[in-house]
Amino acid sequence: MTTPPGSKPATILAQALGTIDPVYGAVVPPIHLATTYERGADGSYPLGRVYARDQNPTFDLAEDVLANVEKGEAAMLFASGMAAATAVFLALKPGDHVVAPKVMYWALRNWLMNTATAWGLEIELVDADDVDAIARAVRPGRTKLVWLETPANPTWVVTDIAAAAEIAHGAGARLAVDSTVATPVFTRPIEHGADIVMHSATKYLNGHSDVIAGALVTARKDDFWTRIRANRSGIGAILGPMEASLLLRGMRTLHLRVMQASNSALAIAEWAQTHAGCVGVLYPGLRNSPGHHVASKQMQGGFGGMLSIRTRGGQPGAMQVAAALRIFKRATSLGGIESLVEHRASIEGAGTPAPPDLLRLSVGIEDTGDLIADLDQALNTVR
Ligand code: PLP
Repeated sequence: MTTPPGSKPATILAQALGTIDPVYGAVVPPIHLATTYERGADGSYPLGRVYARDQNPTFDLAEDVLANVEKGEAAMLFASGMAAATAVFLALKPGDHVVAPKVMYWALRNWLMNTATAWGLEIELVDADDVDAIARAVRPGRTKLVWLETPANPTWVVTDIAAAAEIAHGAGARLAVDSTVATPVFTRPIEHGADIVMHSATKYLNGHSDVIAGALVTARKDDFWTRIRANRSGIGAILGPMEASLLLRGMRTLHLRVMQASNSALAIAEWAQTHAGCVGVLYPGLRNSPGHHVASKQMQGGFGGMLSIRTRGGQPGAMQVAAALRIFKRATSLGGIESLVEHRASIEGAGTPAPPDLLRLSVGIEDTGDLIADLDQALNTVR
């Protein structure tokens, strides 16, 4: 690593830690496709690598860059965000009690309530924007993990990470935070007391809607981290080397992309509040948002590129607005350079916390005025 210690995230990311390939002096690291490594004549592995389901040299720099910007001790890449998240839960033991939010990425909530519960974890869902609810739910000695997502899909409620860390640690549990939406540019959960940070790297970290990937960062390389690593290898939830290389390339522009998306999201949120076709705006950057105070404390430099609007005319009104948009593409996912719109209640189905009139907006890096003009003409169809 050559980036000077103390460098800001923008510098660490743009320079990918300033690493130069020691063999050819290349400023971009090579992609290692090999699945296996040669033993010495004595049967040993002289360079320490054995088989690529456990690790791959192409991961090394991407993991180091992420660990560095998140202020963690180590990072691990996974085949998807779901692979990363589930590896954390599978490092627990059947019978362990887990506290998780009611508002969170719906596919993970479904996995927890179906697969993880069947496997033996006891999952308790709480309103995690209320830290007192987390305090009431933890069972000292029995709760082994508190899981958070902040800001949380799709209503962008915010949890106080430092307060949750204190509660979790007081009960003898670890705190893990899905920080996909905040990104390390705005929040570094380990600085607020979290033990594990999770990312769907498919989203902002890669940022170009062309890689499915996940990542974990740990505050400490302890036994729990060793168990997670064993899960990645045992289940085979590793990332391909091509994807790891694309992810590293994406991370080099992370700072610029999320600053632009976040500035546009704030401008859109403030503007949409005054539009007659819009009956509500959910965005922690708004001063009147219930999560604004906590968000201001733990998000530095912006509130992220995700917001939701509630439209006039209920679900039919929301569908009409989505249909009229021209720049925002109707597609799931988030955190890419292109703006997306999605009617969350229809994709999440029964049990969704998304009201029927809610449209989730993933703001990209297009011109802010163009995005507002697109929303204006679409919202005018229901005003
Ligand atoms: N966490 C959040 C906040 C997400 O939005 C997603 C995907 O949408 C995931 C986790 C799962 O990530 P992946 O799709 O990479 O498995």
